[in-house]
Amino acid sequence: MSNLNQKTTEEEPYCPHCKGEIEDEHHIFISCQAYSQAKQEAIEKIAAKIGEEAREHMTKTFQDGEWWKGGRSRYYLGWVPKTVPATASREIHTEVMKVAGRIWGMRTKWKYEMEKEREGGVRSKAELE
Ligand SMILES: [Zn+2]
Repeated sequence: MSNLNQKTTEEEPYCPHCKGEIEDEHHIFISCQAYSQAKQEAIEKIAAKIGEEAREHMTKTFQDGEWWKGGRSRYYLGWVPKTVPATASREIHTEVMKVAGRIWGMRTKWKYEMEKEREGGVRSKAELE
């Protein structure tokens, strides 16, 4: 997570999954559908662990909306809305941070693969044949 702000100017600013969308932190962690599966899995896991009502808490933590000041979710910074009941907030906090790490890892891997492809993936593919 430490390299979130170290995007180089050479790096493609657009999301590789969503045409025309600027790939900023908010897009990656909140709007991008490429990572919705990871979030859904976390919701299921927490619902199974601490109860069905946590499903709503997790869902609203991941989304922009009424639970977030300014209507923008910042769960990926380690924040949990105050509206999450105290009994659930520790579990939810831990889980959303794991998801943020997982999403960042997926994103980094995708970027790396794309970079590799651009810089000679064609050649190494030909070499394999
Ligand atoms: Zn996207």
